[in-house]
Amino acid sequence: MSNPFVERYRVPPGQPVRLADWDPNDKSLFEGDKKEGKQALRRLNERLAELQELLYAEGKHKLLIVLQAMDTAGKDGVIRHVFKGVNPQGVEVANFKVPTPIELAHDYLWRVHQRTPASGQIVIFNRSHYEDVLVVRVKNLVPPERWSRRYHHIVEFERLLAEEGTTILKFYLHIDQEEQKKRLEARRDDPTKQWKFNPGDLEDRKLWPQYMEAYEEAISRTSSEWAPWFIVPANRKWYRNLVISQVIIDTLEGLDMRYPAPKADLSQIVIE
Ligand code: AMP
Ligand code: MG
Repeated sequence: MSNPFVERYRVPPGQPVRLADWDPNDKSLFEGDKKEGKQALRRLNERLAELQELLYAEGKHKLLIVLQAMDTAGKDGVIRHVFKGVNPQGVEVANFKVPTPIELAHDYLWRVHQRTPASGQIVIFNRSHYEDVLVVRVKNLVPPERWSRRYHHIVEFERLLAEEGTTILKFYLHIDQEEQKKRLEARRDDPTKQWKFNPGDLEDRKLWPQYMEAYEEAISRTSSEWAPWFIVPANRKWYRNLVISQVIIDTLEGLDMRYPAPKADLSQIVIE
């Protein structure tokens, strides 16, 4: 892989991760300012729309995008801005919230496997099976001997998906605690954002160091050749969107997709 965004933000398999060493303000791969960054994203939106059309038409590949982050880091914003202009027919968003009693009565991958993409489809996971080694670990929702086995399950589950034709990209949106403070204050104070303010988010904020540790372990233990993690600097929303868009486009271009051949010799067909 030669795309600089992929090279820079991808976590190689087996590499230990210290999030403190990753700068959430980094914007080093884009020369311009915010306005130019947004313009660049508009061009990338058009390219992504073309590639998604091709993925859908060819009906061969499946693309799974996993978004994980602390509250306010911008999972919703990525979905809105990176996928702008993409045909909704071929894209689905799967939100994973606190599991229902029925979900809890099954293994933790049960609800996840049902939402993975079909051929020709893109599915975006807004939260994912990673919650089962993040919030579940930090809040002690199951004992350590249960969550500690899950890294291995997850690596093998993703291997299964990949071997059956799914391309997987996993993004951790990296903000720092000061940036989260600003964003939570904005949520608290802006009547159009207050609906998103969840007092429970403050509990998670207090557990920031424990979450960082859980993320570090999840990312380093599950970044694989077939399902790489990317640590995306996310204090600047426009740069976060650019990075994710670049990685998705580069990956889709690498699939070498083709429009299917016509179903008949169309040169002989006359439309009366
Ligand atoms: P939000 O995405 O902010 O609307 O909130 C969804 C909430 O569901 C978050 O607080 C997650 O941590 C929580 N959640 C998602 N998956 C799980 C899980 N497997 N176990 C417990 N909580 C979860
Ligand atoms: Mg929340």
